[in-house]
Amino acid sequence: MKDMTDQVKEIATKLLESGQVDVFMAWEKGDAPHQSKPFFARNVADVEKIIFDEYCIHNLSTYLTRFRDGKEKIAIVVKGCDSRGVVRMLEDHQMKRDRLHIIGINCPGMKDPLEAMKQHSGFERETGEKGLAIKCLQCMQPNPVIYDESLGEIQEPHFKGERFTEVKALEAMSSEERYQFFSEVLSTCIRCYACRQVCVACNCRTCIFDEAKPQWVGRETSVGDNFMYHIVRAFHMAGRCIECGECERVCPVNIPLMLINRKLIKDVDHYFGPYDAGMAYVEGGKPPLSLYKIDDPDDFI
Ligand code: SF4
Ligand code: SF4
Ligand code: SF4
Repeated sequence: MKDMTDQVKEIATKLLESGQVDVFMAWEKGDAPHQSKPFFARNVADVEKIIFDEYCIHNLSTYLTRFRDGKEKIAIVVKGCDSRGVVRMLEDHQMKRDRLHIIGINCPGMKDPLEAMKQHSGFERETGEKGLAIKCLQCMQPNPVIYDESLGEIQEPHFKGERFTEVKALEAMSSEERYQFFSEVLSTCIRCYACRQVCVACNCRTCIFDEAKPQWVGRETSVGDNFMYHIVRAFHMAGRCIECGECERVCPVNIPLMLINRKLIKDVDHYFGPYDAGMAYVEGGKPPLSLYKIDDPDDFI
């Protein structure tokens, strides 16, 4: 992907040199060969560090929260998933469109640096090359949905199967079976909050899980407190999750968070759709569940 790196660097140099932007968000190489990490270039000298390779998997849009209170003009490089995250930030009024210059890259799919790290460490090292990350094999939108300029060939969706197969299997369970299933998978959650930290939709300034007075949700890693954490997290994601798969990718104990997210995606689409979060940005548009109407047909409201 050297060619792509060169093209990104060229755009970064142009934008920073001309003063069109104050910050250029992209990636730089980490310490390990399979590690690439978010990088914010602030001047032309920084541009040298910018790269785009098969490990640029992090959703850069999450980092826009760091700039939400400022006035800087920001250039951001986005893949399909990051671009849906940018839409999330715009719809949530966390960022203004006129502060952004968006460089879209039609994404061929990325490898997971966490998987590569596991593969290259420990006693049972594997030497073979790993393929695309799971989230990329399940990706339906590799091409950016919002951009000012775009790079690379348009890509076909990487996912070819039936999107909700696992959700339907979950729905087919009895409520006792479902309770048993979730008791087992959620009992291993260590409440590290990596899934929250990496999520572009988790952009509240004060998170309910951090509040101490009152403490809304217990902090034990008991099944009860874990259920509460995951129920609250899931409801906050309803109609807002842009399906980037980052939460599940970073979970150290492999909790199937995308199963929960996709159940909500399916239900929001069914009851309020057709709708997929972050697929298009309409200035002033109101996505489902973001609007209250006095004549809402649901009586519980
Ligand atoms: S989820 Fe899609 S857009 Fe995002 S890195 Fe993977 S293939 Fe690219
Ligand atoms: S990343 Fe995994 S272990 Fe950590 S809080 Fe989230 S679900 Fe629990
Ligand atoms: S809940 Fe997971 S998949 Fe959805 S936006 Fe957040 S990190 Fe991405």
